[in-house]
Amino acid sequence: MIKAPRGTKDLLPGEIEKWHYVEKIAREVSEIYGYHEIRIPIFEHTELFQRGVGDTTDIVQKEMYTFQDRGGRSITLRPEGTAGVVRAYLENHLNSHPQPVKLYYLGPMFRYDRPQAGRMRQFHQLGIEAFGSNDPALDMEVICYTYDFFTKLGLTNLRVLVNSVGCPHCRSDFGRALKEFTESRRELLCANCRSRLERNPLRVLDCKEESCQQLLDGSPDIHDYLCEDCSSHFQQVKEYLQLTGMPFEINNKLVRGLDYYTQTVFEVTTVGPDEGSLAGGGRYNNLVETIGGLSIPGIGVAIGLERVLIALENQGVQLPLEQKKIIYIATAGEDPEGKLEREAVLLLLELRKAGFAAEKDLMGRSLKAQMKFAGRLGASYVVIFGLEEIQQGRLLLRDMLKGEQLELPRNGLVEYLKSLLN
Ligand SMILES: [Zn+2]
Ligand SMILES: [Zn+2]
Repeated sequence: MIKAPRGTKDLLPGEIEKWHYVEKIAREVSEIYGYHEIRIPIFEHTELFQRGVGDTTDIVQKEMYTFQDRGGRSITLRPEGTAGVVRAYLENHLNSHPQPVKLYYLGPMFRYDRPQAGRMRQFHQLGIEAFGSNDPALDMEVICYTYDFFTKLGLTNLRVLVNSVGCPHCRSDFGRALKEFTESRRELLCANCRSRLERNPLRVLDCKEESCQQLLDGSPDIHDYLCEDCSSHFQQVKEYLQLTGMPFEINNKLVRGLDYYTQTVFEVTTVGPDEGSLAGGGRYNNLVETIGGLSIPGIGVAIGLERVLIALENQGVQLPLEQKKIIYIATAGEDPEGKLEREAVLLLLELRKAGFAAEKDLMGRSLKAQMKFAGRLGASYVVIFGLEEIQQGRLLLRDMLKGEQLELPRNGLVEYLKSLLN
């Protein structure tokens, strides 16, 4: 028996309806905020991620699905959405459109990671990216979008963490200060942090090791190292966020895992026993240039949809899933000449043509078994007839919820159902 690869999951009927709902809200919120959908390839040239995500990141170093295609090219399944969207923005000359250009995407991403709850090797993200503006109001907008998406779904107990990691100038000063601070206790840091200190000192700040966090007690505050531009940008972002009324916290240790962020970074998590990160994003004013040579600012967020669904489950949120009302056609009694069957098929065609979700028996079931099956389907109404009813041009309509049954002329059925269901 061949099984699905580790870290992947089948989404079956019964669960997929929740995904549809979450995706529907994603599209609605995107429309309200003026973001348009972009669909980019599932795979890209490996070089795009090496440049766009960063050679030194865990993603590029350890987690990518990279292979050579039959033409000898190095191809990688996208581990995230931003690099591909930046490539598409440049390749399609969207920079010549009126700016900002605001895009959203929905779809699977791939990372070779150790699978656990909310962390799959094939996972799904909703993301938005906005290009061409450095206005702090846009930073506020992206954070607000994320928060709105979650609250529209019915999630509560959210924590919005915001920070500024500055630009490369202020960051190099801060990195130096951080290195100096940790100099005397470098040996006590975990191996990961020791190598981060060389490659990207900021990442030391979000090390999950308790001992590292203790060592960082009293370490330099990045806010003291922000240049004038970064500092005033951050100030304005905070002011705009206050206008929204959305609760948020400034966290000077929040740096996010990706190297490309500049200035604003943020994360949204749930609080409580099942605390976990749902979304992360930030500004990336140098990323477009790194990928394609044009200096264009950008900002975005990626939202982990598996985690959102887990959080909805944990918080007991009842999603208002709508299902089309089903009409089941059941036949009663003997049918030696196949007359009943023919009538049932004709009625099925007529009902579907009129826009109803209609089903009939396909398993040769008895009337009793048909009624039971209609119940399992969740049918709202069952149309029942036998040879006698056909002859008399009438049929029975059973309301499954009320358990009531009435007799109708065959010709009036569609109109009557329309009046019931519309
Ligand atoms: Zn700066
Ligand atoms: Zn560490």
